[in-house]
Amino acid sequence: MSLIRLAYASEATFDAQPVEKGVEPHVARILLTSRKNNARASLVGGLYYGNNRFFQYLEGEEDEVRKTFDRIKRDDRHQNIMTLIEEPIEARTFSDWSMKYVPLSVDVKKFLERQRLDNFNPQAFTAGQCEEMIQLIRDSKQDQKVVNYDESATVATKPAPGMSPGLRFGLIAAAVCLVGALIYAGSLL
Ligand code: FAD
Repeated sequence: MSLIRLAYASEATFDAQPVEKGVEPHVARILLTSRKNNARASLVGGLYYGNNRFFQYLEGEEDEVRKTFDRIKRDDRHQNIMTLIEEPIEARTFSDWSMKYVPLSVDVKKFLERQRLDNFNPQAFTAGQCEEMIQLIRDSKQDQKVVNYDESATVATKPAPGMSPGLRFGLIAAAVCLVGALIYAGSLL
């Protein structure tokens, strides 16, 4: 069993669409697929998308990381993919996350200010900046929004667990009308 970690930077090929529920729609689709596949392959890591660029970090079994990265490299939703880190590790450093997502956050803006960088351009990151970015993704508390997005997508395809307020109101109104009609009919007899 040999574990590795891998980080890369790339440029998105799509035009960013208005953010829905905290996430750019193309990125939301990538996250859904990634979380499904990465959980199955026991991969953990994080994705950051900003300034039309991606920074992704993956940890896991060497074979699985390489297989996944091969698929990612063939994806035409990004280009100019540059590997920043690829090396063995002793243990995974992300727990419970198949693909953590950090939206354009205050933390990243502070990181750019600290590093005196004008914009987010991970292809030009130094080794130290890569490590800081990984730490930032690891520490991020902001992905609850994305988890909600995933859940809403899943829930939308399942039958509603309980009665909706609208249906409940409709049934009560129908019952009241029925009782009224019965009382009226009774009064006519
Ligand atoms: P499929 O069943 O082939 O596709 C899943 C969904 O993605 C479908 O809705 C499909 O329409 C859509 N899709 C696939 N390719 C494209 C495309 N080129 N353009 C538009 N929609 C498309 N995959 C992972 O498994 N793990 C990752 O960590 C991961 N990270 C990624 C990071 C980035 C920046 C990008 C661009 C892609 C990433 N992907 C990742 C996606 C990866 O490139 C493959 O698309 C995916 O792994 C294919 O998996 P699948 O065969 O299960 O999905």
